[in-house]
Amino acid sequence: MRTCPTISRIVIGLLATISWPSASFAELLQIIHTNDLHAYFERSDNPDRGGYAQVKAVIDSIRQKAADEGIESLVLDGGDFSDGTIYRYADRGTAPYVVMDAMGYDAVAIGNHDWLIGAEQLDRLLGSVRPNTPLLGANFAFDRDKKNLAQHIRPYISVERAKTKIAVVGLTTDQFIYKWAVDDGTIVSAEDTADAYIDMLRKNHDRVILLSHLGYKADKKLADAEPALDLIIGAHSHTLLEKPTHQSKRAIPIVQTGAHGDFVGDLLVDLQPGKPLKIVRYQLVEVRADGPKDPVIAGLVSQARDRLHHDYGSGWLDEVIGFTEVPMSTPAGGATVWGTLYAETIREVARAPAALDMSEFYGTSQPAGPVTRESLYNYYPRTFDIDKPLGWNVWKARMPGWLIKLVIEQAAKMGSHVNTAGITYKAKWKKGKPKFSKFRINGKPLRSVKTYTIGVSEGLGRGTSEISFLLRAFFKPHDTGVPIWRAVEEKLRRTGPILAPVAPGLH
Ligand SMILES: [Zn+2]
Repeated sequence: MRTCPTISRIVIGLLATISWPSASFAELLQIIHTNDLHAYFERSDNPDRGGYAQVKAVIDSIRQKAADEGIESLVLDGGDFSDGTIYRYADRGTAPYVVMDAMGYDAVAIGNHDWLIGAEQLDRLLGSVRPNTPLLGANFAFDRDKKNLAQHIRPYISVERAKTKIAVVGLTTDQFIYKWAVDDGTIVSAEDTADAYIDMLRKNHDRVILLSHLGYKADKKLADAEPALDLIIGAHSHTLLEKPTHQSKRAIPIVQTGAHGDFVGDLLVDLQPGKPLKIVRYQLVEVRADGPKDPVIAGLVSQARDRLHHDYGSGWLDEVIGFTEVPMSTPAGGATVWGTLYAETIREVARAPAALDMSEFYGTSQPAGPVTRESLYNYYPRTFDIDKPLGWNVWKARMPGWLIKLVIEQAAKMGSHVNTAGITYKAKWKKGKPKFSKFRINGKPLRSVKTYTIGVSEGLGRGTSEISFLLRAFFKPHDTGVPIWRAVEEKLRRTGPILAPVAPGLH
């Protein structure tokens, strides 16, 4: 009789092995990831999606489902969480860090929009928030006197999940157009840093995951260059990858969820020892704006809203300062009524024959109807300085005609659009390549050898001024001291409602 329980245990054990052949060997890990949330606290630019409290609820539901099946989770974000809406300024810039810290990430990469305020201000912010969530940036080589950066920004974390020792190493973009914003030498080569860290970490970890704020193009290069990597979780380029991509030479998967909290990445992997990381399931889970909200994050978002009203003055952000019949569409895909209105304002403030601005600087399209100060800021949500809560100023710079043409043509070749006022040209597309001609400035033909004064935003003005003294000497950038936000408000009051253009033949 005594043998019965033993036999039944053996039978049950055998049955379990037969029913779940893979489960008995698999080391499943649930990875949950987001990127480029850009302080879209309440919703994404698609009004049906996003919101930090909704993102958190989706993360928790994926984590709970995995836990119910006995699977551990690793929750990561690829960076650029603090800048992109008016919430950037809430509670003197601390709100995006406080909210992010409450989201429950195991680690968050530090993106360029998180350090564009400069090492000094970032050090101060981290000192006052003291987040528990590790911020990762292995190529962020700050001075040791920045004690808070030293305490909160790490090159990598080591975690033990699914019986596996995992290193998550973080990298931030080293593009020259951004890195001038921190002290010289602070952002070092991402490729060299990857070389140094990945092989070193592989020696005492079973798996190495790269949490990358480098962009999809750079991620693909690293997937080829770093065979010791197991997985790249991407950010920065806002690339929406429906499924993980694999480079031809290497099987390292790359994932990215687009931006602004539209989706959460749900990645179930098998980390069986001695085998390449295997993807068991991948899906982008839609974050619905009307979906469940995490109450703690929802509370923090509403606190941040109260702080904004307190800091700007009650009702100031909500005040209706104009009316528009056309939606405030960003000029990302070509000229728009509102894009031209901004460029025209920059041109007027700079007292220049023309203005030129990068369409990438624009934020979220806003609906037609009443225009509030908040919708003006969120349309162009740019700052280098938490202590200047009116955003970027209008700058002016000197530019030769040939360079104006080159900038517009090169941007078009890269699929981008330069937002302009006072500059016209004819564009023809042949076999997918742009051919530009008949450039005119202020109504007159643009002369290649002539140097013009051009109105630009602070991004271009201060950028060229700080990247190198050669550029400064060439462009002679100059700050007008007038915030773009206030200048557009004044223009709107002067011009009255923005009316929909009347189609020819219909009036
Ligand atoms: Zn970025």
